Amino acid sequence: MSMLRVKVKIRCKHCGEKFVLKGKKEKGKIETGFRQCICSNEHDFEIETDD
Ligand SMILES: [Zn+2]
Repeated sequence: MSMLRVKVKIRCKHCGEKFVLKGKKEKGKIETGFRQCICSNEHDFEIETDD
């Protein structure tokens, strides 16, 4: 199995809200299920992972 569980920190570049989520990393892509910020921003985020 090449799937890795990672902690993902997401910061919204619009309102500054931060989210900490558990994600899966597979083939260099991260999937968290996160869709949008509380301010409705869907695209403009800083994303940091622990690995
Ligand atoms: Zn936001």
